[in-house]
Amino acid sequence: MDLKLREDDLAFQREVREFLDRHWPEDVREARRNTGRFEETKGESPEVRRFFDALNERGWAVPNWPSEWGGTDWTPTQKYIWDKETARAECPQLSAFGARMLAPVLYTWGTDEQKERFLPAIREQKMIWCQGYSEPGAGSDLAALGTRAVRDGDDFVVNGTKIWTTGAHVADWMFCLVRTSTEGKRQEGISFLLIDMTTPGITVNPIHLLGGIHSVNEVELKDVRVPVANLVGEENRGWTYAKGLLTHERTGIAGVARSEVALERLKAIAARTAVDGGSLWDDADFRRRVIELEIDLEALAMTELRVLSQVEQGGAPGPESSILKIRGTEISQALQVMQIEVFGYYGMPYPDQTLIDNEGPVGEAYAHAAMQAMLYGRAATIFGGSNEIQKNIISKAVLGL
Ligand SMILES: Cc1cc2nc3c(=O)[nH]c(=O)nc-3n(C[C@H](O)[C@H](O)[C@H](O)COP(=O)(O)OP(=O)(O)OC[C@H]3O[C@@H](n4cnc5c(N)ncnc54)[C@H](O)[C@@H]3O)c2cc1C
Repeated sequence: MDLKLREDDLAFQREVREFLDRHWPEDVREARRNTGRFEETKGESPEVRRFFDALNERGWAVPNWPSEWGGTDWTPTQKYIWDKETARAECPQLSAFGARMLAPVLYTWGTDEQKERFLPAIREQKMIWCQGYSEPGAGSDLAALGTRAVRDGDDFVVNGTKIWTTGAHVADWMFCLVRTSTEGKRQEGISFLLIDMTTPGITVNPIHLLGGIHSVNEVELKDVRVPVANLVGEENRGWTYAKGLLTHERTGIAGVARSEVALERLKAIAARTAVDGGSLWDDADFRRRVIELEIDLEALAMTELRVLSQVEQGGAPGPESSILKIRGTEISQALQVMQIEVFGYYGMPYPDQTLIDNEGPVGEAYAHAAMQAMLYGRAATIFGGSNEIQKNIISKAVLGL
């Protein structure tokens, strides 16, 4: 892929910038920049709602989807520009569970009725999804999952417990892996079900994370009746769909464009942080560490481009997405730690603490969400399949060991 932008790409970049400046202007960016809260809703503020509506009106909400469901026919370079520009403008993103993870499963394996019912609502961020994969006894070893779905007339009756379910407390629906057979290989008895979270028998119990954030939950399912029409693809073939979804999830978790923005911000803040009569950016050791990270990030950006052009040719990211996941999360964690280092004690307070103290936060606004982001960021090497598991995948599927 030619990395130097051609004139038509530069024109596209200008068009994107104009759109984002109009619909996600600088004052809105600034107001939201320093709030580190978990938000996975249909558009919790009028600005966010307006932004999602503008995206849909323009036909830019889901560039990676097939065009018949609202995708664009952009080239890989244009998609790359779009990702960069939306990260640069710190735009809100459609909920990844619906738009990035479930949607490819639906438009590849779903029935026409499922596509009609769910894809437009996901594209418009009018339906929020959560992912019911992990269970207390099935995380890395996902095929050990034991939530049972037993056929009863036109329904499945589902019993079991899911855990670490991000956003289950705000989700309208859950895509869920369930065991429909105990015959043969474990992977061959799993099905992919879509469950309405308002169905009787579902209890969502919150789990509070280290940084004070409530984003994950335990979900208990007791005699939950799910219409057979909500089965995606074939019964007992869910493992195939689940694996396809995970490669999309891992590619998204890498967050290269977001890290690039964070790195530039870190440099700018270091340049205005006074240390020993100069700035922190004058400190050779600090600068060296930032530049090392920058080099790693550039190498990762190249790998991401390779995966993207592969997606363009073959339709889905391959096991190489595991490389993106490992390096992307390691780099973003290193950046989060460096931010805390730069912000010093201003990086300490996070919103819940300051609310309890009933006082405004101390110090620079940009530092307020840093600690919360750093603590939540520890989970990035665990979710989407832990980094150790990704190394196993690389050794088997990429290196053939
Ligand atoms: C913040 C957060 C959000 C999450 N959101 C969701 C969600 O929305 N939906 C969902 O379904 N799940 C979610 N998860 C769950 C996540 O996918 C699992 O935590 C993850 O797959 C690891 O499983 P586990 O926690 O059971 O750990 P385990 O599988 O018990 O692993 C424990 C440790 O052992 C290591 N290990 C295990 N097996 C091997 C092996 N074969 N080789 C080498 N090392 C190994 C692991 O790397 C890990 O370090 C979330 C997790 C977190 C922390």
